[in-house]
Amino acid sequence: MILFAYVAAIVICFYVKYTIPYIQTFEYLIFLKEQMRLSGFMTNEQPRGNSQPIHALPERERVSRQMIIKTGISFLHELGTDQICKVCIANSGSCCIGCRHLSNGVGCQQRNTSCTAWLCGYLKYMLYETGLLKEWNEFWNQVPGQDFREDYTPDYIFIEQSLSIQDQTMKDLSEALAADLQELAQSHIAIGFILTLREKIDKNIDRLMDYKNDPKQETKIKKKIKILSSPFHRFHKALSEYRQRQINP
Ligand code: SF4
Ligand code: SF4
Repeated sequence: MILFAYVAAIVICFYVKYTIPYIQTFEYLIFLKEQMRLSGFMTNEQPRGNSQPIHALPERERVSRQMIIKTGISFLHELGTDQICKVCIANSGSCCIGCRHLSNGVGCQQRNTSCTAWLCGYLKYMLYETGLLKEWNEFWNQVPGQDFREDYTPDYIFIEQSLSIQDQTMKDLSEALAADLQELAQSHIAIGFILTLREKIDKNIDRLMDYKNDPKQETKIKKKIKILSSPFHRFHKALSEYRQRQINP
């Protein structure tokens, strides 16, 4: 009996001394891996130009809230949407106006899943024309706890569907749209012309989602979006080049 207790004590000591640190080390390695991915070290594990879809996040795995936010921001950054924001903000259209989390000259102090998921009319339009809007919406539909300018998203959630990293640059599309908007803002006497246009495009793309099972309405709304976006000459040129590249990479 004494011998058994003695052996059991040795086994417990061995477990505490060696095994637990290993478990902690293993967890730490997973943590490090995630941090590397967050800081961009691992997002381009496969070279660009690979025709296989590359997922920005592991699917059917537990991912952190921070990683989800970071992925959303990187995705939009890859599209070059900050160019569009620059023009919009210069024309007093910032979507962050009046937010308590906005620090002057520094930017947002409380990035959350809700604001990352939210798209204004111009960003929505970019994703709509490039065929990425559905994927974007489906990705964010998996993220619970989104609210106005804040979130109650748990620290970790499971995701079924990731966002795919584009294998060809789309920054030229954003640059083209930004240049079109800049020109429109300067050439229209009406104050806030591009902001009104943004809201109209936004409303129509939302309506399109609502009527996705009604082909007649769908055609009507698509026509409306086409008319509203008709002044985006540079963008349409860049878009047709982008579509060509997709057919003949
Ligand atoms: S409203 Fe749209 S374009 Fe303007 S700053 Fe916000 S996200 Fe950017
Ligand atoms: S919380 Fe949202 S609205 Fe407020 S500053 Fe940040 S991104 Fe902008």
